[in-house]
Amino acid sequence: MSYPLRALILEDNPDDLELVVYELRRAGFDLEWVHVDNKDDYRSHLNSTFDIILADYALPQFDAARALQMLKQGEYDIPFIVVSGTIGEVVAVNMMKEGADDYLLKDRLARLGEAVKRALKNKRMRLDKEQAELSLRESEELYRTLVETAPEAVLTTDLDGNLTFVSQRTLHLFGYEHADEILGKSSLNFIAPQEHELAMENFSQAFETGEVERIEFTFLRKDGTTFIGELNAALLRDDTGKPRGFISTAMDITDRIKTQEALRKSEKEYRNLVDNALVGVFKTSLEGQVLFANEAVADILDFDSAEELISEEAITRYRYPEQWEQFLIEMQDKGQVENFELEVVTKKDRYKHVLMNATIEGDTISGMIMDITNLKQAERVLLLTMQELERSNEELEQFAFVASHDLQEPLRMVTNFLQLLEERYKNELDADADEFIAFAVDGASRMQRMIKDLLEYSRVGTQGQAFVPMDCEAVFMKVGENLKVTIEENAVSLTHDPLPLVMGDETQLGQLFQNLIVNAIKFRGDQSPEIHVGVVQKDSKWVFSIKDNGIGIDPEFADRIFVIFQRLHPDGEYPGSGIGLSISKRIVERHGGRIWVESKPGRGSTFFFTIPVEHAAGKTAP
Ligand code: ADP
Repeated sequence: MSYPLRALILEDNPDDLELVVYELRRAGFDLEWVHVDNKDDYRSHLNSTFDIILADYALPQFDAARALQMLKQGEYDIPFIVVSGTIGEVVAVNMMKEGADDYLLKDRLARLGEAVKRALKNKRMRLDKEQAELSLRESEELYRTLVETAPEAVLTTDLDGNLTFVSQRTLHLFGYEHADEILGKSSLNFIAPQEHELAMENFSQAFETGEVERIEFTFLRKDGTTFIGELNAALLRDDTGKPRGFISTAMDITDRIKTQEALRKSEKEYRNLVDNALVGVFKTSLEGQVLFANEAVADILDFDSAEELISEEAITRYRYPEQWEQFLIEMQDKGQVENFELEVVTKKDRYKHVLMNATIEGDTISGMIMDITNLKQAERVLLLTMQELERSNEELEQFAFVASHDLQEPLRMVTNFLQLLEERYKNELDADADEFIAFAVDGASRMQRMIKDLLEYSRVGTQGQAFVPMDCEAVFMKVGENLKVTIEENAVSLTHDPLPLVMGDETQLGQLFQNLIVNAIKFRGDQSPEIHVGVVQKDSKWVFSIKDNGIGIDPEFADRIFVIFQRLHPDGEYPGSGIGLSISKRIVERHGGRIWVESKPGRGSTFFFTIPVEHAAGKTAP
């Protein structure tokens, strides 16, 4: 078998060169060689492609020593063998010291092949060793970096538990400055005395099983303070597999414990809140199987306890299946439902109305339910009561209308005949009789007026017109026209804000404005009347105001004046029958509003009434 060999041969004697080549080939090398015989050629050919350099010790103007020097300066790692006819022991040793791999005497060239092989082998071994050392250094470096950058403190001990290595983080964690302070001492120095026994147990366990994981310890710092930490330990073995110590990692878990405690606390608080909530809180599978429910859900659905509900399809015990279908459709569409009303059948077969809010989270539905059965019942009762009230109100209106209408006829007869009596027998009977007749006539005509008023009052409900969009501005103008004479006679200053469009009964709203303005003039004080009709929008209502500078009203009577036939003054003082404000009140209420007065005696009055803002009416706030 032949080995390729590229040789640089420094030789001035052709015979010697030939011999060298011959010997190398004889030794089995597949030789490729470059021959040089002087310094310049040597320099120009020197490069790293050569496997070996063979140099004659002495040349005319050059020698092997300098050739070797140039090789080393060039930092080429090529084995260098000196081949010489005359070389003394001292020179040879020196050459070897300088880095030559071998030297040979020319008369012993038969050994050349062996020498070259040895030199090549030496080089290979040296390279392998260097490589191995490098890898070792690299892997040590890697482990050191890992150990020092690991979030945990890393330490090793021998089998007796004495520390053999501690990372910087270990020193820091346990409050030491230098490894020397602690190396060689027992690792129990890191553990609170009361837990030494536990530590020993864990180390024997690690010895038996190879490792222990996540053991919680009270760790001890150098200064005597303690903290809660976690320890992992594994058995270390030597090359033969014999246990030789332990490697452990330790970390401070105080924060983790605090966080866990805070989490537990907040979970408990949340649990308490949910447990004591008045509304039912639940979690179900998508099929409606209960995964969690609080007591309120159990109460609502007539179960004995929340546990009893778990895994029941309790929420799906619905009364109307289509409601449940609708619930599921909405859930799927929007991922949640809000204020969904459902009628369910409880475990005791009772029907209940529940209100439900729910959200899909992954493959569960969580939500809240509230029992609104009582609320629903109350709503129904209220509706019935209102219907009943409406009906009886209607009946009453009807009655008042019929009564006042039908009473008019006989009363007219009484009045007419009384007047006849008065005309015909005045001064013929005695003075008492004249006075009695006058009282009767007066009473009858007052009664007639009251019946007329009553009729008018009842007509607000029975004979009102349908609501249409109407301009209050126009209505107000008409009222101004109607009252033109009164206004002029009393030198009234009547001003107004721009008035809005509303939905209403034009005649009745005209009457309302008129009643209030007439009163404002009638109950005037000493100065000439100043009346202002204002309006502001508040939320969904117009608030109208009719403000005067008249005699005012004692707040004590502020409600009474809206009752039919209630007046605050004797008949003679101010004319009237006490019907105006009660009619006004009925009109406002028919329009869905309310009326009230704010006043003080002698300081004028302001009457307010509201009318809903109807979007159909269009006009915005003036
Ligand atoms: P009438 O005007 O026929 O007396 P109303 O029902 O219109 O009946 O009024 C009831 C009472 O309210 C009046 O008698 C009066 O005492 C009081 N009142 C009404 N409007 C005013 C006002 N603008 N200023 C002072 N008092 C008023």
